[in-house]
Amino acid sequence: MTVRTRIAPSPTGDPHVGTAYIALFNLCFARQHGGQFILRIEDTDRVRSTAESEQMILDSLRWLGLEWDEGPDVGGPHGPYRQSERGDIYAQYAQQLLDAGHAFKCYRTSEELDELREARKAAGLHLALKPADLALPDDEVARREREQWPYVVRMKVPGEGSCVVSDMLRGEIEVDWAQVDAQILLKSDGMPTYHLANVVDDHLMGITHVMRGEEWINSAPKHKLLYEYFDWPMPTLCHMPLLRNPDKSKLSKRKNPTSINYYRRMGFLPQAVTNYLGRMGWSMPDDREKFTLEEMMANFDIQRVSLGGPVFDLEKLTWLNGVYIREDLDDAALLQALREWAFNDAYVNQILPQVRPRISTLSDVMPLAGHFFSGVPPLEASSFDGIKLEHETLLKLLQFLTWRLEGVSRWEKDVLLDEAKALAEAFDMKMKAFLAPVFIAVTGSATSTSVLDAMAILGSDMTRARLRHAIEVLGGVSKKQAKRFEKEYRQLQV
Ligand code: GLU
Repeated sequence: MTVRTRIAPSPTGDPHVGTAYIALFNLCFARQHGGQFILRIEDTDRVRSTAESEQMILDSLRWLGLEWDEGPDVGGPHGPYRQSERGDIYAQYAQQLLDAGHAFKCYRTSEELDELREARKAAGLHLALKPADLALPDDEVARREREQWPYVVRMKVPGEGSCVVSDMLRGEIEVDWAQVDAQILLKSDGMPTYHLANVVDDHLMGITHVMRGEEWINSAPKHKLLYEYFDWPMPTLCHMPLLRNPDKSKLSKRKNPTSINYYRRMGFLPQAVTNYLGRMGWSMPDDREKFTLEEMMANFDIQRVSLGGPVFDLEKLTWLNGVYIREDLDDAALLQALREWAFNDAYVNQILPQVRPRISTLSDVMPLAGHFFSGVPPLEASSFDGIKLEHETLLKLLQFLTWRLEGVSRWEKDVLLDEAKALAEAFDMKMKAFLAPVFIAVTGSATSTSVLDAMAILGSDMTRARLRHAIEVLGGVSKKQAKRFEKEYRQLQV
């Protein structure tokens, strides 16, 4: 048997370090066994998926040196590798399940589903809806069918008993069927859900080992049942521990930069980031901290993964990056790294329109645009002296904007402008006054290039990291304030 693993990202936002981490372990496992590593794009969520996000994922995995053997861009014998292009395949397999009586059409409306869930809640029952809960009298089904009501296809699931799934790292995991609902397989628009598409594709693409984040454990019983319904061999499952913040909470963009774009913009070296990701729950047999991807592949052993919640610590990564720069890069290589990082045509060209109207000599560029070539700017509380806002309002403004920007998926100037306008209105401030502290937080000075353009160029995580840094410099938000702010933020209907 040839080992085949895959990474199956959904292109719904910035390329996440968690995706790279899972990709790395899948790649190492495949290579260690002389197998193949596949990249599949899971873009069945047509509203949230974007081509830009897909491109960023491909670019960043490649930047990290994580190459795939088959994928949407390189092709392969099992394509297409983009789920949005495989619609007919899923419809056909859903029909097969319907024909065999393993799935059923469900004509329930969302109001009815809410009612059913409310009733179960009131009776103190588990909220998972079972086929029996969803059933309608035959004549009602016939009527809705005749009148062409929208329907979904759901899978049948047992009402009781338990399902045991084996996991390479966790052994046998037992899940009570009572917790598992009659999962939707095909949505009313005919698109598959993650579960159907994922199982069908893993099978058709010959995937032998499914290594993914532990947040998918609860889906495993449904998947196991689908493999049984189709009478297909099930790949071996392996649920990897989730990356954590130093305070052990789940790594999230609220607290830490999670986008690979950020680490690139910040000037981390790809080999250091990949090395550091390899340290997440795994270690080399001799415990050394610095190793190459090739060394990791050669020494890889999945059983050395420990489940203790690996901490993604920016300070440690920064240290390791410094070691790489000092030990591995001679002047020529360092110069090359600088070029690849920011001193290249593509990046500088984005900045030129920002500086051109504002300079008289070339040497004016750096004081004006230096922040494009740095991490968080050196700020002090006094940097904000010129801002005539109460301290609390100032903090609130920066905090609300940070939260608001977390939700922006299309990171472009016009979107950022709309977000800022909406908040300025909520604060009852003119745009110029609203943006003044943002300007200082993002560019590090009171005179620089346009702040919204700067944000668009710097990207989401770098912008938010700078805003968070400004909040810290201003004394931070206390727990009490945070609670108050969150409440107010929720009430703001902007
Ligand atoms: N599309 C899923 C994700 O975004 C894939 C999960 C899996 O690997 O099965 O993580």
